[in-house]
Amino acid sequence: MIDQYGRKISYMRLSVTELCNLRCRYCMPAEGVCKKRHEDMLTEDEMIRAVEAAASLGISKLRITGGEPLVKKNILSICRRAAAVEGIEELCLTTNGTLLPELARPLREAGVRRLNISLDTLDRDKYAYITRTGSLDQAAEGIRAALEAGFEKVKINSVLIGGFNDDEIGELAELTRRYPLDLRFIELMPMEAGEFGKKAFIPYTRVLERLAELEPAEPDGGVAKLYRLPGSLGNIGLISPVNAHFCGSCNRIRLTADGKLKPCLHSSSEYGIKGLDFEQMRSVMEKVIYNKPAWHGLLDADNPSHAGRSMNQIGG
Ligand code: SAM
Ligand code: SF4
Repeated sequence: MIDQYGRKISYMRLSVTELCNLRCRYCMPAEGVCKKRHEDMLTEDEMIRAVEAAASLGISKLRITGGEPLVKKNILSICRRAAAVEGIEELCLTTNGTLLPELARPLREAGVRRLNISLDTLDRDKYAYITRTGSLDQAAEGIRAALEAGFEKVKINSVLIGGFNDDEIGELAELTRRYPLDLRFIELMPMEAGEFGKKAFIPYTRVLERLAELEPAEPDGGVAKLYRLPGSLGNIGLISPVNAHFCGSCNRIRLTADGKLKPCLHSSSEYGIKGLDFEQMRSVMEKVIYNKPAWHGLLDADNPSHAGRSMNQIGG
C-alpha cells in the first residue's frame, strides 16, 4: 500500500514479547520492564490475524522481534504460521542469539529465512557489562549455530557506542572476512530508557574513517549504506537513523506485543488492534499506513525519541 507521501509500505516488524533474558544498557532498565497482564498482550491467533491483515494490504516482508523473541514459548508456532500467510514472501527474525544453540535449526525449519543477531563487542567482560546479564560465549555459540542452520542470510547488528566499542570497529568488521555473514553498524538512538548520553553517540562516518579499506558495495534496497572489505565473505552496512535519517524511503510499520500499531518508531502515535476481527484490523492498518508521518522529527541527545516506550517494548 502507498502512504500519503507516496512511500510503498511493504515491511512490518512484529514484536512478539517485551520480555528479554538480557538487559542491554541502551535498551532496557536494569530492573527489566513491568510485566503487563497476559490478557493485555496479543494472542498468537491475533498476531497471525494481524499478519494476514497486513499482507492483504501489501506487506510482504515480516520481521519477528521483541524483547527477545526466542524467550517466547510459542515462537516456533508463530513463525511457522506467519511464514505460511499468503503474501508474506520473506520472514526474518532479530535476536540476541543466546538461545540459538537450541533454536536455530527449528527456526529455519519453521520458515525463517534471514536472521539478525545483535553483538556489540567481542570482549567477554564488555559483553557482560553492556548486556548486564549475558555471556559472550553463549551468544557466539548461537552465531555458530545460525551459520550451520542454513539461513539465507545471517547479519550481525552492532550498535556504535562511543567509549565502549569504537575501539572494536576493526575487529567487528573482520568478522565479515572470517565468516559468511554481513555486519551492520547502527547509530545509537537516544531512547528514554537508554543509559548513554550525548558523549556516547558516534556518527556512522566514524566507521568510514576507521576502515579506510572499505569499498562501496551494490545497494540492496535496504536502509543501510553498503560497503565491503576486500576479500570478505559479507558486506558491512552503516545504518544512520540519527545523522542521516531515512524517513523519505521508510517502508515499515511496527506492531507491538500489546497490540499497538506504530507508524513510526519515534512517534508517540499508537493505534490499538487487540480484540479486533480481521476486517477491523485491516481497516485500522489501512488508516495507519496512509497517515504514516513524513519523518520522525529531530532526533539527537537533546531531542530524544518521542516513542514513549523503551526499545524492547517497541520491537527494535
Ligand atoms: N532482543 C533482540 C535483539 O537484541 O536483537 C531483538 C530486539 S532489540 C530491541 C532489536 C535491535 O534494537 C537490537 O539490534 C538492538 O541492538 C537495537 N537497539 C536497542 N536499543 C537501541 C538504541 N537505543 N539504539 C540503537 N539500536 C538499539
Ligand atoms: Fe534484550 Fe535485545 Fe533489548 Fe538487548 S537489545 S535488552 S537483547 S531486547
